[in-house]
Amino acid sequence: MYRRTFMHYAGASALMLPAFSMLSGCGGSDKQSTEKTEAVDASGERKLGIALVGLGKYSEGELAPALEETKLCRLAGIVTGTPEKAEKWKKKYNIPAENIYNYQNFDQIRDNPEIDIVYVVLPNSMHAEYTIRAAQAGKHVICEKPMATSAADCQKMIDACNKAGKKLAIGYRLHFEPHNLEMMRLGQQLEYGKVKRILAQNGQKEGNDTPWRFDKELAGGGPLPDVGIYCLQGAIYTKGQIPVSVTAQYHPVTDKDKFKEVEEGIDFQLQFEDGSVAECKTSYNDQYNLLRAEADKGWFELQPAYQYGGLKGKTSQGDMKVENINQQARQMDAMADSFMNNTEIKVTGEMGMRDVQLIEAIYQAADTGKKVSTTHVQKALNHYKTA
Ligand code: NAD
Repeated sequence: MYRRTFMHYAGASALMLPAFSMLSGCGGSDKQSTEKTEAVDASGERKLGIALVGLGKYSEGELAPALEETKLCRLAGIVTGTPEKAEKWKKKYNIPAENIYNYQNFDQIRDNPEIDIVYVVLPNSMHAEYTIRAAQAGKHVICEKPMATSAADCQKMIDACNKAGKKLAIGYRLHFEPHNLEMMRLGQQLEYGKVKRILAQNGQKEGNDTPWRFDKELAGGGPLPDVGIYCLQGAIYTKGQIPVSVTAQYHPVTDKDKFKEVEEGIDFQLQFEDGSVAECKTSYNDQYNLLRAEADKGWFELQPAYQYGGLKGKTSQGDMKVENINQQARQMDAMADSFMNNTEIKVTGEMGMRDVQLIEAIYQAADTGKKVSTTHVQKALNHYKTA
């Protein structure tokens, strides 16, 4: 079913299949056949080719290593403005020269049938341009969080992907992570009764190694769109509802040199229609990592909740017995599966836009000191039953 659906769906990529079949029939000792072994999965099916755009910390430290574990997709190409990085990655990951692009010739990726998916891992304000260019080049897109630095850009990205008939997924890895899936299940299925209060806190001491994070133009904000977005996400998928209003308060600025353009920290509260509240907190100058739900008949929580591994869960009845996995590998395989088989994506562009709209409302609430209605935001929700 997998190949049949894939051939039906893959369009131009399907043209590559005769070449792959021919090559995978070769003996196993030469270099070419080794490369082609990597390009297919255990059952001989072609893996989808991903091109990473932006080879910074997240691409290098997490995504590329995860792509060595994925079953349905693989690292097939890169897009970088730094020739030395191109050379290093070419050697390390055995990437053919014709699959290496820079920001100027990026659009030529259109003619490369080995690239099925473009994964945008650039500073936040650049997500829109590269998502739109990737869709126009006929590729599916995975775009890192936050989707963009304005809801208007999110809309343009959704429109471009729809127009091109390509899928768009946002890099919300925790929707594929077992502890966070358990929070969704417990909360949405009312296992402990109605969730009345949620605490969501994500903060880290942000160093100076990615200066764009302190630049309003490039980042769109400070910790809120970067790590506070996980609180927003966690509260919504645990409650299974989208807030109807928000209030917010900036933290005092203690480092005036670093936080000239973006907030150092911010508290925000999400009010839900049924009267329940999520109390959220994020910072670039303090460490916390918690998602906790208090319900009518008990409580459940993750601490840490949002990091790449080592998550721990507890409930009022004892420890959660849930495994830690390679989150990025699980996420990219789930997305590749949706792209191949044309099935529903759990983390859509609409969900990314919903969060950017909520972030805009939270800033408005903090700037004005007033409660801001959020009934206008995209109604995208990941219902547990579809998980
Ligand atoms: P980074 O600074 O380490 O990497 C950014 C890359 O973009 C670098 O390779 C840099 O050379 C390139 N770049 C191109 N044009 C640039 C410009 N004008 N200014 C600065 N850099 C430019 O950042 P990162 O930590 O890898 O984050 C990249 C994206 O990934 C962000 O959107 C971030 O929110 C997201 N991210 C997601 C997760 C997650 O868990 N899902 C984790 C980390 C980062």
